[in-house]
Amino acid sequence: MNANKKFSFSLTQYFLFAGNLVILFIGVLVLSGKHLHPVVVGFTLVGTGILLAVFRVRNAAEAEEGIRNRIFDFQQSEIGLRQKTALQNAILNSANYAIISTTVDGRILTVNDPVGRWLGYEKKELLGRPLIKTIHDIKEIEQETRRLFREEKKKIQSGFELFLAKTAAGQIYEHNWTYVGKEGIRIPVRVSVSAMLNEEGKTAGFVCVAQDISEQAKAQRALADNEERLRKIINLVPDMIYVKDREDRFLLINDAAAGMYGLTAKEITGKRHSEIHPDKEQADKILQDDIRIIDSGEAKFIPIEILTDSAGNRRFLQTNKMPFRESEDSVGVLGVSVDITERIQIEEDVRRSREETQSILDSVPSWIIYKDTENNIIRANQALADAMGCGVGDIEGKNLKEIFPQHAERMFEADLEVMRSGRARLGTIETYQLASGEVWMQTDRIPISDDTDIVSRVLLVSTNITERKRAEEKLRELMETKSRFTSMVSHELRTPLTSIREGINIVYDGAAGRLNDEQKNFLTMTKRNVDRLSRLIDDILDIQKLEAGRMDFIMEPNDFNEIVEEVYKTMSPLTEQRGIEFFLALQRDLPQGFFDKDRIVQVLTNLLNNAIKYTDEGSVRVLTSREDGNLHVQIRDTGVGIRAEDIDRLFRSFEQVGGREKRFGGTGLGLAISKEIIEHHGGKIWVESEFGQGSSFHFTLPLKRPSG
Ligand code: ADP
Repeated sequence: MNANKKFSFSLTQYFLFAGNLVILFIGVLVLSGKHLHPVVVGFTLVGTGILLAVFRVRNAAEAEEGIRNRIFDFQQSEIGLRQKTALQNAILNSANYAIISTTVDGRILTVNDPVGRWLGYEKKELLGRPLIKTIHDIKEIEQETRRLFREEKKKIQSGFELFLAKTAAGQIYEHNWTYVGKEGIRIPVRVSVSAMLNEEGKTAGFVCVAQDISEQAKAQRALADNEERLRKIINLVPDMIYVKDREDRFLLINDAAAGMYGLTAKEITGKRHSEIHPDKEQADKILQDDIRIIDSGEAKFIPIEILTDSAGNRRFLQTNKMPFRESEDSVGVLGVSVDITERIQIEEDVRRSREETQSILDSVPSWIIYKDTENNIIRANQALADAMGCGVGDIEGKNLKEIFPQHAERMFEADLEVMRSGRARLGTIETYQLASGEVWMQTDRIPISDDTDIVSRVLLVSTNITERKRAEEKLRELMETKSRFTSMVSHELRTPLTSIREGINIVYDGAAGRLNDEQKNFLTMTKRNVDRLSRLIDDILDIQKLEAGRMDFIMEPNDFNEIVEEVYKTMSPLTEQRGIEFFLALQRDLPQGFFDKDRIVQVLTNLLNNAIKYTDEGSVRVLTSREDGNLHVQIRDTGVGIRAEDIDRLFRSFEQVGGREKRFGGTGLGLAISKEIIEHHGGKIWVESEFGQGSSFHFTLPLKRPSG
């Protein structure tokens, strides 16, 4: 202490102020040994410190008075200050903000209660420590610094420099950060940082005011989660979902809707429909619709909306639209659209294919009825409609009973059989009574099965055969008349012919007197013609009987080879006469056949006669064999052969194709008779021939006894 300074005091007053003891001393302060200063010294313990006040007074009375006044002033200002500080502290500490003041270099100067409370620190643990490192997430600060550095192309040191930079021009720097507490607790905060300036306007420190935004962040996260969830849900829906505002801007759109424009939901959100839709007119029409919905406040179902997609294809949508309140004062429109392009296309295809099918059905002159198992007519055609005197539309959808009241039952019985068996029934001939009269129809019934192989439909195709029936009837009558006529004529001719033959034979044999050579020649010619006439009459009578089914067959077991040998004997003189070789090649141990011997002899004789007739040189041979339960016979010659184009006609009555038949007195009935006989036995007859090379006539006979 300076030796020149001396104090001499006497305790004059003490009192309690705001719970603190205030002590006042009045005395003289001697400075530099000369000057005497009357002073009042007061001190009190304030908090942990000592408040010391020295007042100079002129004289004791004055001093005392002054002291009193000052004490009073002091008391007043102290009260005011304390109240103010208490109020400020109360405000600061009870505020729900963390308030931190720092020095210029970022050290914590003061903190209010919430800081400690939030972060779990005692106040004194924080004071003097670097703000950033102590309570910030340093990574966040670094990241933001880097971002800022890129943005502003300015090198900024990580840390507190960021605050310096952002508040440099006196701005308030607001940003969201995370405060990290003592135990690692993290609190999202919105921080406003501003610089504190001293009287000279220089930065004296910073004040950070932080607001806990955990709830806000949570709510935001929840909102984002909700939005994300909603987005996921609407993206799962194949329908197009979108929300537009009144200005045609997409607020929400799902992938299905965005996909139509070849864009993502993100790319479309915020854009106007008219910006992305290629057809301005369509887009405008849709907007007008939307506005009407918004204005009317009523939902609307739009059966077909036409849009053009990104590929330029027309798309048909079926849309439900409704007003959608997107905020307090703005209403947009929510739309849910189903793409029905494919459905419309399918419908169109179905319609076209139905039309095509219908025109095919209508071009068929037969009646066509396509019906279900309940007799309901699904499809019909024009021919049927014409017959019924109505339109196809009047028939389709009706029950068969309504269309054919008289015949439905009979028809259904036949249909039932087809449905039960699953097999088609073709060619049923039935009559129908129509307004125009009776008609004959030939009906094919075809069962149609569904996927499970159950007959679910029957197709009836009925052809009108009334004309044919009438013609057949006429023909039958005609044939009968013809056959009656020919058999009558043949019978009538046969009797006189027999006596002519006998007469000629008697004269020829010389019983009626010797004939000269000329007479004999004439008579030979006459005899040949009479024989031919008689053969012709026999053949005509045979074919008549065979065709009318009036020929009697005596079916017995017979040895075929034996019969061949008999015929061979009879025919050999003829071959000798013609200078032709005649062979048999018979398969031994053939089982007995079951046939009419005389008729089969007739066939063999006929075929051999032909073979000999149409062979000038070479050979004729008969071959027998057993094949697949049949007897197979071949009469092979090396004669003139038959032209391929004539083969089909050979087995018909009165067909002669060679041109040399007259010479041999053929009738053109031999092969027709043979065919009838063989077929009557259940066999087949055919020919293989090469013109100019010879022919092979074949026939088969079943070896088994016929069951009938
Ligand atoms: P036709 O009494 O005239 O012989 P067919 O019915 O027996 O009558 O024979 C019909 C026709 O078939 C004969 O006119 C002949 O043109 C031809 N034809 C039959 N057999 C032979 C054969 N073996 N070679 C060549 N042509 C034959």
